Amino acid sequence: MPTIRRLPELLINQIAAGEVVERPASVLKEVLENSLDAGSRAIEVQLQQGGVKQIRIADDGCGIDKDELGIALERHATSKIASLDDLECVATMGFRGEALASIASVARVTLTSRAQGSPHAWRIHAGETSPSPAALNSGTVVEVSDLYWNVPARRKFLKSEGTEFGHCDDAFRRIALARPEVAFQLQHNGRVSLRLATGDMRRRCGDILGEEFLEHARVIDVEAAGLRLSGFAALPAYARASRDAQYFFVNGRFVRDKLIQHALREAYADILHGSKHPAFTLFLELDPSGVDVNVHPAKTEVRFREARAIHQFVYHAVSRGLAATIGAVAATAPR
Ligand code: ADP
Ligand code: MG
Repeated sequence: MPTIRRLPELLINQIAAGEVVERPASVLKEVLENSLDAGSRAIEVQLQQGGVKQIRIADDGCGIDKDELGIALERHATSKIASLDDLECVATMGFRGEALASIASVARVTLTSRAQGSPHAWRIHAGETSPSPAALNSGTVVEVSDLYWNVPARRKFLKSEGTEFGHCDDAFRRIALARPEVAFQLQHNGRVSLRLATGDMRRRCGDILGEEFLEHARVIDVEAAGLRLSGFAALPAYARASRDAQYFFVNGRFVRDKLIQHALREAYADILHGSKHPAFTLFLELDPSGVDVNVHPAKTEVRFREARAIHQFVYHAVSRGLAATIGAVAATAPR
């Protein structure tokens, strides 16, 4: 008979890491979301060797108290929810309290932070028991080095530096797109690759997708029955060969959702033919209780309580937005 035993904490975290920490880009996503949840207004990311060697992220958020630095690295430790009720109306990007513990189980992690009102900063290396004094003006610096140094099987699946950087760049853009009120900077191997000043949504979309996208895009802004859809949907002239310019956010969270994809395909069906894909940056806002984000650890999938209503709403908002300005095209298109 096989013996049943309890797995050690480190192994538990490494198993969980398999779900959340797929590659450097997934680490970047998690730490960026933490910086946003901390109320940061300016975030700087430095990557070395596609993020495999190091991901360093510095923010100006609320910081972490000296006594909580160690707890932040523990599994199921979070400041964001305390009860099931909180979970049902969660407004932060994180809430599972797993990311830092998972990351720290497959990489070397250091947290340096100065909590608001604290006379100076403290630093902890994951695995150590107590923090030591450090120098930092405000906010938090998270350093994640040597991803998968202790999991060779996983390290083998990492791609070239350029490919991993590309994924990091994608993750960075997805997050920055939804938060135009936050300034972002991305560096790779010591060189600035993207700098985003604060501004309005139009400016941020232009900075990330390019002015040409905006020139071809129609403004979408529709509100009804507690739902709001805003953003930009490009006309067929700007259609792409791939889905690289499709950004859909639910309450500020980038999601890939079959229902939404279907609604958008339908909305474009009359005006976009062939194998081209539409380009859009759309932001759906609804009461947090109307959407379950606790479906998948990476939270890119969601479940809507009123799925049909959401589908209808998105479909009508986009198809009307597109038709209103290209009446001539819509009129000649087959019904
Ligand atoms: P979650 O985000 O789900 O709460 P994490 O493991 O990502 O779980 O983070 C654990 C906790 O560490 C967070 O709840 C938060 O209190 C704290 N934390 C992490 N990163 C930061 C940061 N950049 N600024 C302030 N607090 C942070
Ligand atoms: Mg988190």
